[in-house]
Amino acid sequence: MNQDQSPHLATTTLDELHLGGLSPEEEQQAKAHLAECPACSRRMASTTASADRYREQLNQSTMEEIRRRLEQPRASKPRRAWLWGLVALAATGAAVGAFLALRG
Ligand SMILES: [Zn+2]
Repeated sequence: MNQDQSPHLATTTLDELHLGGLSPEEEQQAKAHLAECPACSRRMASTTASADRYREQLNQSTMEEIRRRLEQPRASKPRRAWLWGLVALAATGAAVGAFLALRG
């Protein structure tokens, strides 16, 4: 039961098979076709390989991003100290303002 003209599996079908996105019935049909079709078998192997490579790269960049974020709080400390300085300055200003208001 192929919806497209080609007797072979569609690339999206191969992708979905690799990602586990097919229904059990579709998966069975796809696997049956792969078992008897060397051309689709090769395409499936290449899909799997490139998807794994992509996932590997993604994992690597995700890990780098996580590492960067973990290091960030330490890096942004000076800015936070500066912010607290500003808060203290504002509080002092408010206290001085209140003192002047009370006096005047
Ligand atoms: Zn085929």
